[in-house]
Amino acid sequence: MTTPALWSAQAHMPSVIGRQINVVSAEGAYLTTDTGARLFDGTASLWYANIGHGREEMAQVAYEQMKTLEVYHVFGRYTNNRAIELSEKLVSIAPIDDAKVILNSGGSDSIDAALKLARRYWNHVGRTDKKVIVSREGSYHGLHAYGTSIAGLDFNREGYGTDSLVAGTERVGMHDAAAFAATIERLGAESIAAYIAEPVMGTGGVHPPQEGYFEEIQRLCRENDILFIADEVITGFGRTGEMFASSRYKLQPDIIVFAKGVTSGYGALGGTLVAPRVWHPFFEQGADSPIYRHGTTYSGHPVTAALALKNLEILEREGLVARSAELERVLARELKAIESHDFVTSTRVGGFLGGIELSSDVSAEFVTDQAIEQGFITRPLRGNTVQISPPFITTDQEVRDLVGAVRRVLDAAKAKASKATAT
Ligand code: PMP
Repeated sequence: MTTPALWSAQAHMPSVIGRQINVVSAEGAYLTTDTGARLFDGTASLWYANIGHGREEMAQVAYEQMKTLEVYHVFGRYTNNRAIELSEKLVSIAPIDDAKVILNSGGSDSIDAALKLARRYWNHVGRTDKKVIVSREGSYHGLHAYGTSIAGLDFNREGYGTDSLVAGTERVGMHDAAAFAATIERLGAESIAAYIAEPVMGTGGVHPPQEGYFEEIQRLCRENDILFIADEVITGFGRTGEMFASSRYKLQPDIIVFAKGVTSGYGALGGTLVAPRVWHPFFEQGADSPIYRHGTTYSGHPVTAALALKNLEILEREGLVARSAELERVLARELKAIESHDFVTSTRVGGFLGGIELSSDVSAEFVTDQAIEQGFITRPLRGNTVQISPPFITTDQEVRDLVGAVRRVLDAAKAKASKATAT
């Protein structure tokens, strides 16, 4: 048997061979495949195609930037105008006052940057035992070695040896502030560097925060000198109806990790926003100032920075963050209505991202596969949950059509199950 050269990401290869969906072009909220199928992008690719696909002015901005300066690094004394402008823009919209910006190539990169920075900071201020990172069950923080080590999805840690790839990690229940308090008690605050969470848990099944949970976590962080890190890789740049979910859920993070929505996927860019408490010693101690030894070849890449600037301009010009808030309300209504279906156990919405949790009568994989046959892309998440997170340019009717397609699949599955019982 011939096998493909491309080793797909997160794929059980024998199951995808021969069933691959080859996307050849995309415009707005729709993709076209090599078989000519037109598919509605109900997940905005991996939660990020927020301004929609195929924007001419994004192509133009990349072209212009490449003609002027395709790349130069930002190590040491070097910088470039686009990296400077983007950083200034991000500082102006960040929910952290007087933040600094570290630019990298994606979410996993930026998780590494954030967690290393947390440790480097404590080390510099003389709290050298503060190394442990606490994350949540069900969390997803990318798949580099640090993200894998703190992963709250067990299958992402499987097979790499029983220890974490990076030492010093602890996991607590998703909404269990008491478990965090117990962890602090058990390990001692002097050994914990940071707590990290997605404001709305994404890959773990779309879980918005429970009332009061983050207030309690932040209180524990403050009282115990533990840095609070918000992973806004999915939620950043409008997905929850505000530029950052930290604003919506009243979080005061010391570090915010972002990626995806910063360019809507047009460029491979991620980064971290850092609060003054953490950046201060690295900027203002003269010759004694420590060096944060981190950075990647493409940190501050001018083409991706130019794409991010244009993406942010489009979000603002077209009012897409407010539109995302409107779309959340449409989605919430549709999901409420589908809850009465026998095969749906619950639905959740936290911004313009929703999850439909299914009963054991039907699998999210099956529903996803069937929905594609009808022209709608969704995605199975942990906990037998179907992901819904279309681009912000989606119409109300398209949201109804997407949920309607899921309903038709569930109706057919139910009719088949009843028939099987009857015979
Ligand atoms: N954090 C979260 C919350 C994510 O959802 C993701 C990616 N889905 C990442 C980090 C990692 O980002 P990347 O895939 O760009 O490395």
